[in-house]
Amino acid sequence: MSYSQSHLLGIEPLSPTDITAILDLADQYVDLNRRDIKHSDALAGLTQINMFFENSTRTQASFELAGKRLGADVMSMAMQASSIKKGETLIDTALTLNAMHPDLLVVRHPHSGAVDLLAQKVNCAVLNAGDGRHEHPTQALLDALTIRRAKGRLHRLSIAICGDIAHSRVARSNILLLGKMENRVRLVGPPTLMPSQIGQFGVEVYEDMREGLRDVDVVMMLRLQRERMDGGFIPSEREYYHRYGLDAEKLSYAKEDAIVMHPGPMNRGVEIDGEIADDINRSVIQEQVEMGVAVRMAAMDLLARNLRAKPAEVMA
Ligand code: ASP
Repeated sequence: MSYSQSHLLGIEPLSPTDITAILDLADQYVDLNRRDIKHSDALAGLTQINMFFENSTRTQASFELAGKRLGADVMSMAMQASSIKKGETLIDTALTLNAMHPDLLVVRHPHSGAVDLLAQKVNCAVLNAGDGRHEHPTQALLDALTIRRAKGRLHRLSIAICGDIAHSRVARSNILLLGKMENRVRLVGPPTLMPSQIGQFGVEVYEDMREGLRDVDVVMMLRLQRERMDGGFIPSEREYYHRYGLDAEKLSYAKEDAIVMHPGPMNRGVEIDGEIADDINRSVIQEQVEMGVAVRMAAMDLLARNLRAKPAEVMA
C-alpha cells in the first residue's frame, strides 16, 4: 500500500495508485469503525492540529474523530477567537503552531491556494480540508469510496455532477479524481454556474437536466454556494428548483439503479427534494458521511507512515 506524497493538498498531484492506496486502507477503517471498540494506535504519539478558518460541520467533526480513533493527540483551534482577528497573517499563525511540533495540520481556508502556501512554510504533513473554490480532496476521496462500494468499481461509470459547478471545490476535486480513474463525467447546470475554462476538464456539459441525467450510474448534487456569489447567478430559488432540483421525475432519466449523492450541507427544496434525499434505496448521503471518517483515517495514517520513514529535517 503506497502513497507517494508528503501532504494531501489536492487530487491534482495524486496518481491513480495514490488514490487506490487511500481507498483500500479506508475500506479497512470502515470495518474498524463498525466495531464496538473503534480504536487503533496508528497515530499514537503524534499531534494533529485542526485549523478551520471557514465554517464546517461534517469535515471538522470527521477529521477530529478520525485522529482520535487512531490515537493522535488532537487539538481543534477556535479560529474565530485566534490572533488572526488581531491582524496576524496566516503564515505567522502557521509558523507559531509549527514551533509546537505538530505532525499533521488539517486546514480549511476561504482562499484558493492558501493551504498550498501554508504547506510550504511548515515541516509537518498538511491536509487540505477545503480551500476556497479550489479543492476539497478528502470529499472527493470519500465520494469515490462511496461509489466504489455501491457500484463495485470506480472506472467506466457515467457520473453526472449537477448544480453550482463554478463555485464548488467539491466538483473540481471530483472531476479530477473521476477523470484519473477513467470515468465519464457530465456537468449539468445553467451556463451561469459553469466555470469559464470548462473545456480543459475533458467532461460533457448539459444545460438540460433530463438530458444530462439520461442513463447515468451516479447523480451527484451540489449546494448553491451563495457565500461565493456576488450577483444574480440564478433567477430565483423556485425557478432553480424547477429546472435543476433533483426530484423523482428527473431522477427517472438516470439508470434504474443510479445512486444519489450530496456532500452536504443540503438545501432541501432548492437543489434536492427531501424525499429523494431520504430514500434509502437511492440516496447514499449517510454512507458518504460514514466513508468520510474512514477516508480521513486512511489519509492521515498513510501520511504518518511517510513522516516516520523520513529523516526529521525539512520535508518536500
Ligand atoms: N461541505 C462542502 C464544502 O465544504 C460542500 C458545500 O459546502 O456545499 O465545500
